[in-house]
Amino acid sequence: MGKSYQKQWTGVFGDPVDDNPTVVMEQAAFDAAGIPMEYLTIQVKKGQLEAAMQGMRAMNFTGINITMPHKGEVLKYLDEISESARTMGAVNTVYWKNGKLVGENTDGKGFLKSLQDEKVPIEGKKAVILGAGGAARAIAVELAGAGIQTIVVINGNEQHGKTLVDIINEKTGAEGVFVHWKGEVHIPEDTDILVNATPIGFVDDKKPAIVYEDLKEGMVVCDVIPNKAWTGFLLEARDRGLKTFNGLQMLINQGAIAYELWTGEKAPVSVMREAMEREYGVKLP
Ligand code: NDP
Repeated sequence: MGKSYQKQWTGVFGDPVDDNPTVVMEQAAFDAAGIPMEYLTIQVKKGQLEAAMQGMRAMNFTGINITMPHKGEVLKYLDEISESARTMGAVNTVYWKNGKLVGENTDGKGFLKSLQDEKVPIEGKKAVILGAGGAARAIAVELAGAGIQTIVVINGNEQHGKTLVDIINEKTGAEGVFVHWKGEVHIPEDTDILVNATPIGFVDDKKPAIVYEDLKEGMVVCDVIPNKAWTGFLLEARDRGLKTFNGLQMLINQGAIAYELWTGEKAPVSVMREAMEREYGVKLP
């Protein structure tokens, strides 16, 4: 067979997208596996998603990640949508299956995998989620799918919080409970898994306003902040000897799932992990 100069394409559509680090881990993984695939970070402005999706079909992209502000709108341009992505109303990964363009959401699955890899019990347990946006929704739907019994959603905007609780109660087998976030909020004593699903701690060292004395032995504490191994929130948990999971692990795991959907092969997770550790100058626990 002659030499092929052709590449396979994948990447991310979003706006803003210039600070999206996914290329670092996906490209490292493709290169390590010797797959001739390029991951492109592409700015697609609001109103241009339909054209961009037609373009990726026309150019025979292997797949694409979708990020803000397109995660909801992209559902219109796909042939099939996974059950959990439909429940969330959001897709972050698009891939081909039997000639059909399929939408999946790997955010919550990446979160879940971090916990499952460490054998954290989920079935019949109680989770408390701070925040009710896209990350909270993805995590809630996957935790419910894994058999969690109760999900308490603590959020400032009542409507956002109640919308997520309605999704939990109406579309999953779990029980959703809303708590209005005003001032320093208490964490229920019988919480098994506590998740910060707000962006607090991303750009500075701020911590979610909760009563940290409520953190009790046995609680598992998780953060979605994707650019740090240790946020102030997680340090509070670590100082109390609790098991923690950070947003970098979640990001790497969701990227590994996307890699597997695109290539059909097991992701070289340690390569992806090392690439992100180098990128952020951190050592993951
Ligand atoms: P959204 O904008 O959809 O939702 C943000 C949520 O956080 C809202 O419920 C909002 O409350 C709440 N919130 C924001 N600021 C505050 C505050 N100061 N105090 C209390 N609540 C606050 O964002 P996403 O869900 O998409 O993203 C949230 C975070 O998750 C981001 O940092 C993002 O980077 C991260 N993320 C990480 C992933 C990973 O793989 N690690 C994957 C996806 C996201 P309200 O409703 O009251 O406005």
